[in-house]
Amino acid sequence: MIIKWDNKVGPVIVGKYPEKISFDIDLAVKVYTTQFAGSSSPFSVIEIGDWRIASYYLPREKYIFALVLEDEESGERYENKLFAVAEKFSKVLQEKGIVEDLPKLYSELASAGYTFKRSELYERVETQKLLEKFLDNSLTELEPTFHWEEGFRYINAEKFTGLDPIDTKVLLETLSRYRILNRRACDSALTCPNCGSYKIRIRYRCPYCSSFSVQKSNFIECFLCGTVDVEELFSGIYYGEPDKYYCPKCEKELKGLSLDYRKILSQNRCENCKRIFPEVNVSVQCTKCNYSVKLANAKIVEAPLYTLNPDCVEEIEKQLSHIRVKRIISSLFKEKGWKVETPGIVAGSDNVNYEFDIVASRPEIMDKEWSKNVLPGGRITIDIVMDREEVKKEKVMNFVGKNAGIKPIQYILVVIPKLSDEAKQLLIKQEIMYCENEGKLSEAPPLIESLASIDFQELLA
Ligand SMILES: [Zn+2]
Ligand SMILES: [Zn+2]
Ligand SMILES: [Zn+2]
Repeated sequence: MIIKWDNKVGPVIVGKYPEKISFDIDLAVKVYTTQFAGSSSPFSVIEIGDWRIASYYLPREKYIFALVLEDEESGERYENKLFAVAEKFSKVLQEKGIVEDLPKLYSELASAGYTFKRSELYERVETQKLLEKFLDNSLTELEPTFHWEEGFRYINAEKFTGLDPIDTKVLLETLSRYRILNRRACDSALTCPNCGSYKIRIRYRCPYCSSFSVQKSNFIECFLCGTVDVEELFSGIYYGEPDKYYCPKCEKELKGLSLDYRKILSQNRCENCKRIFPEVNVSVQCTKCNYSVKLANAKIVEAPLYTLNPDCVEEIEKQLSHIRVKRIISSLFKEKGWKVETPGIVAGSDNVNYEFDIVASRPEIMDKEWSKNVLPGGRITIDIVMDREEVKKEKVMNFVGKNAGIKPIQYILVVIPKLSDEAKQLLIKQEIMYCENEGKLSEAPPLIESLASIDFQELLA
């Protein structure tokens, strides 16, 4: 939900997704007032009736970006992404008044809290592009660089993945949550807790009256009249005697240290309340929204250094080769005019839905009687299985049931690099077609190549 404050009518729902969600204007008003009356933190998880809502408030633009949570769901993991989305889209909103691609925005947001299966994480092209660079050693670490506008960026990672700075950071964090990347503290920066800007000033404040008019100086106290003031004002330069001290109040010459005056070194004085004190309060002030807080309450953004987790290299290599082989095979089928789904689902004769790495089909011949003998069900299903040295029987067992379930549809197991003898015996006995793919991960196995190349027009003729 995107809610905006309108000066005439109050909160307005600018957009919501899905359309049919029963989040209405009354609820929007409640979210807005709760958020507005709440703590100074722009992010909060609030409960209104049965609703649990994570929301991010941009006070300057008066927008709220809200996400409806599941009953038990903790909202915290959405904080960074919600903030990122709010930052990104508030600009679009101000220019156009609407967010055109709300479904995409929603899926971006949802993916921040969504737990990937490890394999799904590898399926993302950006993940592959980045990890390939680590594997071929053109990348050893990802170091953050600081930019005044966007904060920390990982330029190399952006370059390799093609993602924008924010999505790149989300991807790196996700990979480190799955321990595919290691993260180590490296740098940090303060940001405005209100609007997230990095352009903040450090300012001294009087600890008594909070005024900014604080001056650091040496002071002199005149024992003759009790005046305390900055050293410069006591200078005898006014009297043409720069080496002497004269009290600016009683105008007498001060002749001796500890006799008629004393020095108070390195203190601070507040111009507003005139107090003198050794320690100042330090506050940060945002130059973008003017928000000011104590230093301790400024938001710290950490920018870790990412490296590849060496324990995952084997897993990554395996996952990437799996994906590479899948890509090679599916593009081969596509080239030859097949419709390809990766993964694809086929309903078995036992009414179970079976999922395959690749399902290649020829919809145009599915209803032809003769196709039953050539290409039953009009399609071919393929799974890819791999192991370091050889694929063992135990691993192959999983595929036997699938083959039986979808019969007579053609099922092929692509094995990388090869099968153990036992596994081979099992597949032969079960009449499961297989092909081994030793070494050559750059081309499709000959069996697949010839199946993909079947000329259906000729057969039809
Ligand atoms: Zn700010
Ligand atoms: Zn003061
Ligand atoms: Zn004096």
